[in-house]
Amino acid sequence: MEPLLAGIYAGDTAELSLKATFPQFREMGRKHRSLILGLLASKKQPAPKPREGVPKVAYNSLFLTLEGGLTVMTDALAAALQEERVITGQAVVGLTRQGHRYQMELSGDERTEVEAVILATPAYAAARLLQDQIAAAVYLEQIRYVSVANLAFAYRREEIQHDLNGSGVLIPRGEGRMITAITWTSSKWLHSAPADRMLLRTYIGRLGDEAWTRLSEPEVRRRVAAELKELMGIEAEPLFCEMSSLPASMPQYPDGHVERLQELRVELERTMPGVLLCGAGYGGVGIPDCIRQGKESAEAMLTGLGDER
Ligand SMILES: Cc1cc2nc3c(=O)[nH]c(=O)nc-3n(C[C@H](O)[C@H](O)[C@H](O)COP(=O)(O)OP(=O)(O)OC[C@H]3O[C@@H](n4cnc5c(N)ncnc54)[C@H](O)[C@@H]3O)c2cc1C
Repeated sequence: MEPLLAGIYAGDTAELSLKATFPQFREMGRKHRSLILGLLASKKQPAPKPREGVPKVAYNSLFLTLEGGLTVMTDALAAALQEERVITGQAVVGLTRQGHRYQMELSGDERTEVEAVILATPAYAAARLLQDQIAAAVYLEQIRYVSVANLAFAYRREEIQHDLNGSGVLIPRGEGRMITAITWTSSKWLHSAPADRMLLRTYIGRLGDEAWTRLSEPEVRRRVAAELKELMGIEAEPLFCEMSSLPASMPQYPDGHVERLQELRVELERTMPGVLLCGAGYGGVGIPDCIRQGKESAEAMLTGLGDER
């Protein structure tokens, strides 16, 4: 299971907290005595019911995405916020309590006073804002973040011999490769490329293997292309290759994460009421986890502000 589970977190299963990272497997193991028995039992569950807004073909799929790309979601959020005052391109560099309000200092030397704050930043960024005021915030610095990168390659379909039957491959760390996973993007998401083209996305970087960060981009591309040749027999020149570097982007919840975070939230509530934490560094890295946390934080904030609605 290591490649599958560690692949999602670019982590090491021996070091990740089961309770924080895969609570569903912990529950399954408890309920059914073993994971395999649990997985067999889950296959007997009735077929999932149609979900509103989800096309029929996707009812049973583990994989869902937005057809126009994930920016559809962020653009929609930006459009919904048009009426509000939104400041972008500046970091929050200071957060201090002033009676019942908070003063936020921005990197552009601006200051703004607010009634409540949802910190949706990575844990290390929240640590900098909280550590002088909240003792338990020291934990936020202990959540390690791994640097990963994606390289998308596009080819002419006729130049690729591989049958691409599936959605991709995950590569265990024992293989000693730079590539940790490959998504056959155009097979997984039919809308992502014309029928005569093939798009694939390779992933690099995982806990204990971030050597790529010290290499030049051309060298990374060269090594990844060489591995694609060995793994999938791809010799064709790509139509394009696009690399996206994501430094310190994959949080690793250590053992005790749930408890340490709870301690921190309790101290926050006592010392800085109205300041909340949400996002990948805290309650799950998947986009649905982040959306759920965002909603919960907004609800908690409104309740705290005495919103009746
Ligand atoms: C390679 C890769 C593949 C993935 N694939 C999937 C997938 O297939 N499915 C899935 O569900 N999830 C996937 N994920 C996980 C998911 O994309 C992320 O966990 C999620 O997007 C994190 O969202 P977030 O809002 O918590 O954090 P982020 O998107 O990291 O947002 C944090 C924001 O805080 C800002 N910030 C930092 N410091 C400050 C400051 N001081 N002041 C103001 N702002 C600040 C940053 O600029 C950033 O915009 C993947 C992640 C990676 C890296």
